[in-house]
Parts: sequence; C-alpha cells; structure tokens
Amino acid sequence: MKVNLNLSPIENWIPGLTEPLVISGPCSAESEEQVMAVARELKKNPKIKVFRAGIWKPRTRPNSFEGIGEVGLRWLKRVKEETGLLTSVEVAKASHVELALKYDVDIIWIGARTSVNPFSVQEIADCLKGVDIPVLVKNPINPDLQLWIGALERINQAGITKLGAIHRGFSPLSDSEYRNEPMWSIPLELQRIIPNLPIICDPSHISGNRILIEPVSQKAYDLQMNGVMIESHMDPDNALSDAKQQITPKTLEKILDRLIIRKPETSDVDFELRLKELRQKIDKIDHDILEVMGARMQVAEEIALHKKEHNITILQKGRYDQIMNDRIEQGKKFLLKEEFVKELYEMIHENSIKRQTEVMNKKAAENAG
Ligand code: PEP
Ligand code: MN
Repeated sequence: MKVNLNLSPIENWIPGLTEPLVISGPCSAESEEQVMAVARELKKNPKIKVFRAGIWKPRTRPNSFEGIGEVGLRWLKRVKEETGLLTSVEVAKASHVELALKYDVDIIWIGARTSVNPFSVQEIADCLKGVDIPVLVKNPINPDLQLWIGALERINQAGITKLGAIHRGFSPLSDSEYRNEPMWSIPLELQRIIPNLPIICDPSHISGNRILIEPVSQKAYDLQMNGVMIESHMDPDNALSDAKQQITPKTLEKILDRLIIRKPETSDVDFELRLKELRQKIDKIDHDILEVMGARMQVAEEIALHKKEHNITILQKGRYDQIMNDRIEQGKKFLLKEEFVKELYEMIHENSIKRQTEVMNKKAAENAG
C-alpha cells in the first residue's frame, strides 16, 4: 500500500534546517514569566528552532490543570517577537485553530486524543481550508496506523502541504517502562507508506520520565526521523502538567550535544537497528564483567584477611602457576587466545595481590594502633 499526499519538504517550511528539527518548550504554558524564561533559555541553543507550549490541555481526569487558554497565545506571540523562535501549539477543535491563527502561531499540532477522532480531525481540516500553516499530526493513542494515515489525509485534502507526523507512542496494555509504548514498527511502516512525510519523534510522551528521553531520541535519529519534540521547563518538578518527564533547557542542551546524527549514507534501517542491538548486548556484557570483577576482588580481600590471621604470605607460587594454567585451558574452550588470557590474568592477579597487600597493611596498622 502506498498513499500519495501532496507534501512540501520540511526544509521549505522551517528556515535554515540542516539537522533534525528540535521543538521544545513546556508541556503547558503556565504564566507569562514561565513561558518567557524557558523561551529565552531555549533560544540560546541554535539547535532549537521551534517553541512549543500547550494552551488547551486534554486531561485524562477532570479537575486537573486544563490549560491557561487564550491568554497564553499572547505569551507565545511575545516569544516569537522577542526570541525569533517559531511557535507551536496543540489544537483540538475549530475554535482553537481560529485563535491560533488570530495570534499568528507558526505551527499547529493535533494531539493524540484528537487524532483518534475523525469528526474532530475533519472539523480542524475544514477550518484550515485556504490557510497556509504547517500542521503536525500526532499518532492516535491506540496503535491504529490507518487512523493516523486517515487524519493526515484529511488535513492534506484541506490543502495543507506543510504536513508532518509526530510519533508519541501508544497507550500500553500492560506494565511498561514507557509511559507510551514506542512500537517503532508503526512509524516505520508510515515512513514506508508515505516516504516523503516528515516524522518527528516525541520522546517526552513516549518516556514519561527523564531517563529515557536521551535513548529514545537517539533511536529516533537512528531511524532517520526528521526531528524531536521534547518538553522543557525551568522548574520541571513543579510543572503543572507532565512534571516527571520535563527537563530543563540545560539538560536538554546536554542531551542534544550527546545525540549522534548519522548521515543517511546507508538507508538500511535494519543495519542500524541490528548494530544498535549488538552494542546493547556488549554494554550489558561489559557491565556483567565489571560486576563479576568487583566480586572477585571482594573474595581476594577475604582471602587476604584469612591469610593474615594465620600469618601466611600473600603469594603461594604453586597457586599462581595453577591459576594461570587452568585459566588458559578454560579460555581455549571459549575460543580465547592463550596470550590474551595470560595477559588478562597477569593483570587481574597483580591487582588482586595489590588489594590483598593493602588490606593486610590496613589490618596490621589497625592492630598496631
Ligand atoms: C502534549 O504534547 O503536551 C500532549 C498532550 O501530547 P499527546 O497529545 O501526545 O498526549
Ligand atoms: Mn505533555
């Protein structure tokens, strides 16, 4: 299946875009000061091109902060005037679109709880007829690719060619480390069906916490997505919505600096995925090696104390010889070369002796004192 949309390349609607697009800003606009403070910080980083802030917040349960409303659009206008950042806001119905246009918002996005409903998407599409504004469509909360494509088609049929998708994950059915399951195969399939459609990843809503934002962003970059939308706040712990997943502009800067942008020399996504998978295995194995090495050193210390109590020398020549021969033989079973195992155990043994000496000396000093 292929779906033909009339699309304008993202470089044509984000001026000066040479790297993946970074959209950032608070989950919700809370006050003028909060909005301006975070915008000024974000502006310092040239990687960030678009400012985001939720004005109308779709909340799962009533009686929580439902967004500041129209007044927040004035603050966004100020952000644009003072920082030059492009501004973006979530819209869920026609009246939101009208207000966003009235206040010159640069980009609008349709949230995951709206893209799930074709009536709402159509209402927004009808309101956008004859308007030239970039629109980003978040995936519906349930993993229904057709529904996502349908929403994109409705907006495109209204004449919007500056169109992109946002991958923000899908409500998990069972316990998950993610707030929303990434289910990467779905955006990848979207990429396959509509190859020229820009896809932006939203690591904040996928992760639901601060720890996973970096690896999810890296994965998005490695899957050649066109950018990321990451929530930021000057005081994330006290944010009025999504406090657990928001990060400061400083943390965001560090993350962005660490992210590796690979050139799409090879368009072979499977190659990247496999390499990443293998590296994760290596990381895990190295972690295990270090843990085991630590445990070995602990036992060496116990041996040292035991020898000390019985007034026995640290080194027993026969034991060293026995370890070397035995480990070299064992190594062969795991296809490890003799020189490697020899060198490795010389180092381990040397360090072990050093640790034993330290422990013995410490004990001796204690006893003397
Ligand atoms: C948001 O971006 O703040 C938001 C409400 O996201 P989503 O629609 O992905 O839940
Ligand atoms: Mn949010």
